[in-house]
Amino acid sequence: ASATTPWQYTDEPVVAGQLSPRPRFSHKGTFGHALLLAGSRGKMGAAVLAAGACLRGGVGLLTAHVPACGYDIIQTSQPEAMCLTDPQADHISELPDLKPYQAVAIGPGLGQHAASLAVLRQLLKAASQHREKTGQSLPLVLDADALNLLGQHRELLALLPENTVLTPHPKEFERLTGPARNDYHRLELLREFAQRHRCLVVLKGAYTCLATPSGELHFNSTGNPGMATGGSGDVLTGLLLALRANARLLPFEAVRLAVFAHGLAGDLAAHQTGEAGLVAGDIVRHIGPALRQCS
Ligand code: AMP
Ligand code: MG
Repeated sequence: ASATTPWQYTDEPVVAGQLSPRPRFSHKGTFGHALLLAGSRGKMGAAVLAAGACLRGGVGLLTAHVPACGYDIIQTSQPEAMCLTDPQADHISELPDLKPYQAVAIGPGLGQHAASLAVLRQLLKAASQHREKTGQSLPLVLDADALNLLGQHRELLALLPENTVLTPHPKEFERLTGPARNDYHRLELLREFAQRHRCLVVLKGAYTCLATPSGELHFNSTGNPGMATGGSGDVLTGLLLALRANARLLPFEAVRLAVFAHGLAGDLAAHQTGEAGLVAGDIVRHIGPALRQCS
């Protein structure tokens, strides 16, 4: 496939072997320390699902920063994760020091409180300063309410570090760009958006489409309608966070692999539960086998 083809298709041979075997002398640091900013009162499940997916995605260490009401929830449901609590009980209002982390995700269950918008703005600014200091931008994954906040404050789009990953479903995408006239026009808007902001945009749905800064479109082959259920997207965010924290993968490769493996995990899960019975936690539990199958 070349840059001149209008679109490409991600199937198993395309991703096979990208997740190279873990070196014998690996340690936690080899696979990165990820930071997840997620959750608000009544939406802590989104943080739990994203954290679980990140851990199953092979991250070295995961810290979840959650509102104080989420502390017991994260510590009991995800004992492998570390947990930082925000001073606010019900929503996130402060950005932790980013020094320890190789990648950051924000959005699942976040809510749209003004204080959380301020955290998003600080994160985008800090990630740009990271680039000035280290020459490389801090890998970011923006999902859910982080995208809704961006859509309401589009001036923030100018702050996005290169290769930031955005994971809108069509409604979230519309909030970022305005309405599309039809499905083809939506893909044109998608391509233009990724090129203009130099980011990796995952337009979710059946045949999820990944647009790259160079204007390529990559359609995904895995996934099933059983995944049209609350929390599926939060699982994708966690898996993306793990693979973006993994320094052994290039940004585009990490995103293409995460999208493919997430759909495959959904297919393996549906094989057991049926499509109707599938819940997002089933996708988390099949990430391990899915990654094994495409490595
Ligand atoms: P969200 O709307 O944020 O929960 O994200 C839903 C997730 O499930 C995305 O990763 C979608 O690609 C996936 N999904 C939803 N419906 C389908 C479908 N009909 N076929 C394949 N994947 C789907
Ligand atoms: Mg979502």
